[in-house]
Amino acid sequence: MESGQLSVEYNAENALYDLHCHSHFSDGELAPADLVARAAAQGVTHLALTDHDTTAGIRVAQEAIKQQELPLQLIPGVEITCRWQAFEIHLVGLNVDVEHPALVALLEAQQQMRKRRYEAMLAKLHKAGIDVAPPLAADLTMPTRKHLADALVEQGWVKDIETAFRRYLGKGQQAYIATEWSSLEAAIAAVQAAGGKAVIAHPHAYQLSNKWLRRLLQESKNWGVDGVEVAISQQRPGDRLALATMAREIGLAGSAGSDFHGPRPWRELGKNLCLPPDTVPIWDTWTPS
Ligand code: MN
Ligand code: MN
Ligand code: MN
Repeated sequence: MESGQLSVEYNAENALYDLHCHSHFSDGELAPADLVARAAAQGVTHLALTDHDTTAGIRVAQEAIKQQELPLQLIPGVEITCRWQAFEIHLVGLNVDVEHPALVALLEAQQQMRKRRYEAMLAKLHKAGIDVAPPLAADLTMPTRKHLADALVEQGWVKDIETAFRRYLGKGQQAYIATEWSSLEAAIAAVQAAGGKAVIAHPHAYQLSNKWLRRLLQESKNWGVDGVEVAISQQRPGDRLALATMAREIGLAGSAGSDFHGPRPWRELGKNLCLPPDTVPIWDTWTPS
């Protein structure tokens, strides 16, 4: 790996940060108790739980750490789906006060939108003759398209998740409904009002040209964003260093996160998350060394 040296440094400090993962409070597979146990077993010392548009799992995770006496510090986080230009951009909030009214209000609005969208997409599926019966929106903390996809697969309408998205749930497909997500600017403001750090998630997932990526980061910086995810478990060679360079040029700290959703051979909590040496770690902005 390009930053193998740095892992030695982290080991010396005995700190391993993973600042992006999901529990079953959104579209992750593990309960918070299993997630934190797995993180600790992988040597993670600082874990941010960043479920989609909800912080409902944080308290449960915190309790589980206490109960299992794990050597793990939990960083309260959230991943907020935002709109910016024509794009859907994900913003990670780290070290947030989960009870702050500004954040609570924004997440409640997002949650309502998700529930309405989930029901509207299900209605579209039914109208198309797809008689699928996924969990009720009311029974889910945070209904996502993944829940619809899982039901489509389990009940035999499609052979796998990818087909479910390609045929029905993906952007522009038969059952797709566009959503009026929070603006990126408002989400950054809410995270920071709640005392947190705002970080642009997985910048290469949006399929932006370099010019647009720079524009996203620069405009976010103008709105006060604190950082950008530089180290992501699965990255194309070169992407991490390119992001580190862009972050440095624009004046953003770098974050590191696996975006773990469940046990997979290719993605693990805490794996392959070293920041390049010239990146300011986002955690230094809340724990100056
Ligand atoms: Mn997800
Ligand atoms: Mn995301
Ligand atoms: Mn994520």
